[in-house]
Amino acid sequence: MRKICALCGRETDILIEGLCPDCYRKTHPLAKVKRDYVGIVRCPSCGSILYKGRWVRDPKVVEKLLLESLDYLGRVTKVSIEEFELRHGLNTAVVRVRGTVHELINEYEERVQIKVRYSEELCPRCRDMINERERAVVQVRSIVPMDERLRELIIDIVKREVVKGEERSGFLRIEEVQGGFDVKLSDQGIARAIAYRIHRTLPSRVIESQSVVKGRGDKVITKLSISVVVVPIGRGSVIIYENRPYYVLTYSQGTIKLVDITSKDVINVRLHDLVKNRISIPRYETRCVERDGSRALEITINNESYLLDNAC
Ligand SMILES: [Zn+2]
Ligand SMILES: [Zn+2]
Repeated sequence: MRKICALCGRETDILIEGLCPDCYRKTHPLAKVKRDYVGIVRCPSCGSILYKGRWVRDPKVVEKLLLESLDYLGRVTKVSIEEFELRHGLNTAVVRVRGTVHELINEYEERVQIKVRYSEELCPRCRDMINERERAVVQVRSIVPMDERLRELIIDIVKREVVKGEERSGFLRIEEVQGGFDVKLSDQGIARAIAYRIHRTLPSRVIESQSVVKGRGDKVITKLSISVVVVPIGRGSVIIYENRPYYVLTYSQGTIKLVDITSKDVINVRLHDLVKNRISIPRYETRCVERDGSRALEITINNESYLLDNAC
């Protein structure tokens, strides 16, 4: 009995479901694409690829995404990507599929075109790293020029707090700026710990502010800025405040007790006011002298000498 293909009408030795092998192949592809296009999202910073909701740092996932977008309809023995590059926008990947759709047909190869939409997006880790680079800054300034001892004391505090908060990690760097330095961190808690520790150690004024770096609603990313102005004075310091020379008696709870060197009046000044109105430290010398059988402190500022009782 003659075998005739129902589609092309040719005579054939093998008839599969009424078709010659060629027509059967044409109507039964080895593979077909499941979706309109395959989306490939890559992180431009670390190269990770978004794969099933996870970011995977293995370039082979691109191949997986392409091959898993195919439904294999026959017995497939080999698939390989023939053509594909990661270019922004819509691209076409060509996949070569080897196999057969019917046991009566020998293995053959077919090319399948897959539409690929390629885009780039920072993965959460890289985004965090970039955003976290400056999630907090502690701006440490001194009301009078910092000497080396003060600088070391503050840097020591910073380092200790960073070590304590190590598991939260993310310490970044200390940047020298005029009048002090900026401590830039990724962890706001460590930033607060540093500011608090400096505040406990030295007379200082601390002001905290939060600003929105980006985003809105729940996804807002804020940056914490803490301004720490240290007033490195203590008992025995001589300062010029509002054009008058003062001798520092005590510092307690944000208030500094000063004695006016010329009038001997004792005043209490809030640290905030000292910071606001600025102070300076004059060139001065002090020495204890005997006067009327008691000791007094002689303070010399710009060749002018003043005596202060009960200061020696
Ligand atoms: Zn045919
Ligand atoms: Zn990344």
